[in-house]
Amino acid sequence: MVSILVVEDDPEIRRALVKGLTERGHAVESFGTGLPALERMLAQAPDVLLLDLGLPDIDGLQLLAMVRAVSEVPVVVATAQDDDRAIVQALDAGADDYVVKPFGLDQVAARIRAILRRGGGHDRAAPLVVGDLQVDPRTRTAQLAGRPLELARKEFELLLALASRPNEVVTKRELLVEVWQQPYGGADRTIDVHLSWLRRKLGETAAQPRYLHTVRGVGVRLAAPADPADDGS
Ligand code: CA
Repeated sequence: MVSILVVEDDPEIRRALVKGLTERGHAVESFGTGLPALERMLAQAPDVLLLDLGLPDIDGLQLLAMVRAVSEVPVVVATAQDDDRAIVQALDAGADDYVVKPFGLDQVAARIRAILRRGGGHDRAAPLVVGDLQVDPRTRTAQLAGRPLELARKEFELLLALASRPNEVVTKRELLVEVWQQPYGGADRTIDVHLSWLRRKLGETAAQPRYLHTVRGVGVRLAAPADPADDGS
C-alpha cells in the first residue's frame, strides 16, 4: 500500500483528496498546515507528498526546500492557478510533478502512479508480466516471449503505463498525463501513432489485436492473449 501525505489548507479540497485517494487503495494522512506536516514527515516519511503551495503558516516553496534538505520523497505540488512561475520555481526546488487547481482526482492519482514508476517506491522494482510480455521498469527494457523489444522512450513508457494496469481500460487522458505529462488538449493522435508503432513491434495489428486492445472512444487495454503460446512468430 502506498502512503500519501496530503498538505492542503482548503478543507473541502483536503477532504476530497483524502476520500478519493483512500478509495483508490492508498493510505492517506492529511494536514491543513505545513509545519505539523513537516514534523510528521520527519518522524515517518510517506511514499509520496502532495503539497499545496499556498499554505497559511509557511510558504509552500520554503516547506519544499526544507523537505528536500532531508528527504528524497517524491513530491507533487498543487498550485492555485496556472501560474507558470510558481510551477517552474517548484520544479527547480525539487518537486517531481505538479497539478493545477481545480484538478480531478483521476489526474492526481495518475500523477502519483507515474511518479512511483519513475522515482522509486514500492511499485518500481519488480518486472511486470502480462502473458509472454515482460516489462522491467528498473532496466527500462521489455521482452516478448524472451525476445528483447527495441522500443523508443515513449513507446516504452506507454507500454509500462499499460502493463502497470493489465486488463484495465486506461483512458487516453490518463496516458497523456502519465506518459506525456500533458493533461490538457486533445493529443489523441500522438497516442494513436505511438500505439501503432508499439503494435508493430509486438507483431500485431489493430484489426487482429493480441495484447493491445483499443476501446473506441474510451482508451486502451493491455491484456494477455487467450492463447499465449501463439506469440505471433
Ligand atoms: Ca491553499
